[in-house]
Amino acid sequence: MSSVLPASFSDLGMPSALMRAVADLGFETPSAIQAQAIPALLDGRDIVGVAQTGTGKTAAFGLPLLAAVDPSLGAVQAVVLTPTRELAMQVADAIQSFAAHLPGLTVVPVYGGSPFLPQQRALQRGAQVVVGTPGRVIDHLERRTLVMDQVRFLVLDEADEMLRMGFAEDVDKVLSRAPQQRQVALFSATMPAQIRRVAEKHLRDPLEITVARQSSTVTSVRQTYAVVPFRHKVGALSRVLAVSDADAAIVFVRTRGAAEEVGSALVEKGISAAYISGDVAQGEREKIVDRLRSGALDVLVATDVAARGLDVDRIGLVVNFDVPREPETYVHRIGRTGRAGREGEALSFVTPSEQSRLRQIERTTRVNLEQITIPTPADVSAHRVQAMLGRAQERAAAGRLDLYRESIAVYLAQNPETDPVDLLAVLTALAVGDEGPGVKDDMDEELDRARLAPARHETGERGERGERRRASTHIAGGPARWRVAVGHRDGVQPGALVGALTGEGGLTGKDLGKIDIFGSFSLVDIPGGLSPEAMDRLSRTRVAGRPLRIRIDSGPRNDGPRHDSGPRHEGGRSSYGASRPAHGPTRGRS
Ligand code: ADP
Ligand code: MG
Repeated sequence: MSSVLPASFSDLGMPSALMRAVADLGFETPSAIQAQAIPALLDGRDIVGVAQTGTGKTAAFGLPLLAAVDPSLGAVQAVVLTPTRELAMQVADAIQSFAAHLPGLTVVPVYGGSPFLPQQRALQRGAQVVVGTPGRVIDHLERRTLVMDQVRFLVLDEADEMLRMGFAEDVDKVLSRAPQQRQVALFSATMPAQIRRVAEKHLRDPLEITVARQSSTVTSVRQTYAVVPFRHKVGALSRVLAVSDADAAIVFVRTRGAAEEVGSALVEKGISAAYISGDVAQGEREKIVDRLRSGALDVLVATDVAARGLDVDRIGLVVNFDVPREPETYVHRIGRTGRAGREGEALSFVTPSEQSRLRQIERTTRVNLEQITIPTPADVSAHRVQAMLGRAQERAAAGRLDLYRESIAVYLAQNPETDPVDLLAVLTALAVGDEGPGVKDDMDEELDRARLAPARHETGERGERGERRRASTHIAGGPARWRVAVGHRDGVQPGALVGALTGEGGLTGKDLGKIDIFGSFSLVDIPGGLSPEAMDRLSRTRVAGRPLRIRIDSGPRNDGPRHDSGPRHEGGRSSYGASRPAHGPTRGRS
């Protein structure tokens, strides 16, 4: 971006009541999308904003939206459409908080899967702003419980997600029924043709704003995941914490019961941990957070609600003990680390059956999570040794070592065949609590199995309930590896495949992983999967004059006779198997 962005909210031309709300919320400087969208929207323009999750879109439209409505008028003047119920509630909350100094201003969320009447009543009491899912907004319009005559501001939040969820027609309907004299702000993480068409049809000379990923949180946070069967999560967590170099960590859990359980389990293992949940009184919560900040406490186990707004620079590690249901929650969670310009790591535990959630997070955040291996007991010991050695000189300087020198001298005199370095090793092992390999506990074996088998149920691996799964049951959001029926023989280049997949498939370059071209076919990683429509379109798409016939890669069957000698799927040859542990030589299948 060439222009210098306003460094402060006061440069954006917002009314003072909104300035105060922003200050109350502790927002110091506008994010990039806010710096560009707010002045344009205050100016009365339509906008199209292309920005990822976590870039601060809600305030980018929420603040100008509030500047456009009249709190003394008891009619709906702004409508925000969001793809999900959770988002509707979240956005409504946020806008209400921006309206803290606008007395009489009411924001009402409306969404499906919830009784109609309370929403109707809330609307009747007089709301100026409605935030809802498209389907439910239409319902209210049709029953005349929502009237749009006075609407002058419309927002489509996460437009691509709304279309993906099949709301295209509803969105169109809402926009068509709004008065002509109105402003529209459309936000989307991606800009497929379908969204362009919506913008062309309903927006007037929109200002296009594209924002690259915020450099703040996301990029300075290394995002990883590990496949961990549910019953080994606590064990895996304590190992992760044992080897982490982070000063402090937050462990996110979904329920208060889990917060208590996990927190207590860590304390039992001698880790300096505590937990907070919505149940813990505010005063107590603050005390715990202070201890975390001061270093008196290293690990905090928390529910999402309890950790909201928590801001502690020492946190170098976030562990998602449970995968969040909403990608938004994931972004909020990982925002607890990598603060104040520091490095952070966010590790998510997924059970073998939860991996589609991971793909959903990857798709929303446009970040590929890197799979890691849970540290082994040997890793934990090695880490402890390093820590001990790091303190060796300091300890030597502190003195009072004669006692130990003497004991060792006696021992060596009695066991003259003992090598002093061997003895040192033994004492070190004892000091770090390493009792030797002994009986290998089943945790490591199961972790290995879970790590290597994931997301590839179609390989015939037994699923969690022991049933065999087949590739055909996983279409969208399923396995990452796809096969297309064109290869070297057809003169195909990676660029042509990328072009077809992004053009016809509606994907972006970031949706695509590794591409391997073989003689008569190619394999493409699409971690986020493909929607059935995209698959259908792509199957018919031609590259190098031949239809792609894209399908989930389940081996070289069904493709007719083959003559090329590309790596056999089941063989786990390294050119392809190495990147896919399920097929890799590590599995020892042959
Ligand atoms: P998006 O809709 O782009 O995913 P949100 O609007 O939900 O992002 O904002 C993400 C988080 O960043 C929220 O917790 C929000 O309160 C916070 N936030 C937004 N703008 C600012 C700002 N200017 N300064 C500090 N925090 C902000
Ligand atoms: Mg948002």
